Amino acid sequence: MVTKTSGSKYKFEAEVDQVLDLVINSLYSNKDIFLRELVSNSADAISKLRFEALTNKNLLGDGEFGIFISIDKEARTITIQDNGIGMSQDDLINNLGTIAKSGTKEFLEKIKEQKDSAELIGQFGVGFYSAFIVASELRLETKKAGEDQGLVWTSTGTGEYEIQTSDDVGFSNGAKITLKLKEGEEFDEYLQDYKIRSIVKKYSDFIEFPIKLESIDEEKKETLWEVMNSQKALWTKNKSEITDDEYNEFYKHLSHDFTNPIHRLHYNAEGTNEFTALLYFPQSAGMEMFMQDAQKGLQLYINKVFITAEPELLLPQYLRFVRGLVDSKDLPLNVSRELLQQNPRVAAIKKNLSKKILSELEKLKKTKFDDYKKFYAEFGKIMKEGVHTDFANKDKIMNLLMFETTKTEAGETLSLQDYVDRNSTDEIYYITGDSRVNLENSPYLEALKAKDIEVVFMTDPIDEWVVSSGAEFKEKKFKSATKGDIKLDQDDKEAEAKTEEYKDLLTSFKDQLKDKVSDVKFSDRLVETVACLVANENDISANMERIYKNANQAVPQSKRVLELNSKHALVAKMNALLDTDEAQDYMNLIYDQALLLEGSAIEDMQKYNALVTKLMLK
Ligand code: ADP
Repeated sequence: MVTKTSGSKYKFEAEVDQVLDLVINSLYSNKDIFLRELVSNSADAISKLRFEALTNKNLLGDGEFGIFISIDKEARTITIQDNGIGMSQDDLINNLGTIAKSGTKEFLEKIKEQKDSAELIGQFGVGFYSAFIVASELRLETKKAGEDQGLVWTSTGTGEYEIQTSDDVGFSNGAKITLKLKEGEEFDEYLQDYKIRSIVKKYSDFIEFPIKLESIDEEKKETLWEVMNSQKALWTKNKSEITDDEYNEFYKHLSHDFTNPIHRLHYNAEGTNEFTALLYFPQSAGMEMFMQDAQKGLQLYINKVFITAEPELLLPQYLRFVRGLVDSKDLPLNVSRELLQQNPRVAAIKKNLSKKILSELEKLKKTKFDDYKKFYAEFGKIMKEGVHTDFANKDKIMNLLMFETTKTEAGETLSLQDYVDRNSTDEIYYITGDSRVNLENSPYLEALKAKDIEVVFMTDPIDEWVVSSGAEFKEKKFKSATKGDIKLDQDDKEAEAKTEEYKDLLTSFKDQLKDKVSDVKFSDRLVETVACLVANENDISANMERIYKNANQAVPQSKRVLELNSKHALVAKMNALLDTDEAQDYMNLIYDQALLLEGSAIEDMQKYNALVTKLMLK
């Protein structure tokens, strides 16, 4: 909420105050970045105007697009001016007075846990506020393209800001930010031309608009504007001419991330649909995980003109972590954003990018496994969504997944291909749950372990969907350790024999639990444990039930089968007690224990307690 205090004064949203505090304190060691952030904002604002002007020429002011920097040593100020789109009063309040992004609270909480918060701040994109690292006061004069009224926004970065109207900002459109530098030697250097030049060269060289520095020729009493950046769109250069530093700086400019990417991919697609793509895989998912609405897509340029960063225009949702841009010469410049979505060339680019990204990841996995592991830990979960949404690339995605198994060390992972290569079983055995630790000693694995069968641990909630409804990999079906029959040994007739021998016991058991389970039967799934609950092959697992419940969703009802261990001594004992109250107590207790084993809650805790106490008293 924005609160107006008096006249033209406004209070910063509480969260802005906190973020400001964090920015100033944690980014202090790299003060230079304030200029990068302001220049980036200016460049974005010019791109926006240029795009709008494609359909409305009246918005354009005089003169060529540019970013103009002036220093006033006497007044201790730096001024950065652009002739971009500018801001209206609403823009000022919404963009600079509030953090108009959801997830702010999560962000602040996360940042408190982390000592080095610089990275996180970058991902959050608090660019404008970074001016307060070096400035004690900010004055922003602006006029939105196409509007008559100029505005002046001022703040000292503590609690409040002020907005006033101005009839004379001195320009037709754009923004002009004046920073009053803080007192102290460490800030004096920003009054030096060479310092400004070197920061611009380092961080903003590739910005496509000229960034100019003002100087005065004393003799001729003339103002000179020196262009500081080469303006060469990085992606149009030859790969061999671009240094790692340049690539990384460009990434930071694009993504507002403060850390280098894990990996990049720069290529030209040739043939009927030519385009250049420069793609980056970030180190961490950062805020994107929380902020659905703040998600930005790949940037689309048409012949070096920025068009849009519409999410999902160029990449499917499950690859939304990829940052970067695509520049195509073959798309019409005057096409609207809506029409772009239906453009077959855009669809073809999207298809090409998905394929390329997946094969690049495969390559990364093969050649730089450590990098791949880092990537996978952050984005594996997101990528898994593709198994169900991108049918054409399903196998490729499956091939990229990594899992721990009953035969890997904790932390060590295996791909499904590895599993298939080293196991001759007809099926890929898996068990789902919330963590390896909780699954490792699961009774559901007893017989599988005894037979030395490798079982894949699937511990992401989304894994349930990866393996659901007839999923297979390389023609091997996935087989859950907690669902359906497990027939490991054709010669083992123990369960069958017991079914005959203990017919009455089974009947009585079924009768006792008829409201709770769909069947009671003997099986060979268990070795040590007396009983467990098993879902039907096509029903949802207990783990899936928990996922639904945690998400506050209705749980599809399905009764499970109670499987008894045919070799367990308790079976014979119960049979001997058949038709007594005690046998009934046992049956109820066995059911409750089976619930606990599958990770579910006991339905009637008091009854369970009473039964256990009764037994102990004997
Ligand atoms: P971000 O750039 O990550 O969105 P900022 O805090 O740097 O975050 O900027 C917030 C918003 O303020 C921008 O998204 C933009 O809408 C607006 N803005 C900032 N600088 C300018 C500028 N020079 N001209 C026009 N709008 C601007």
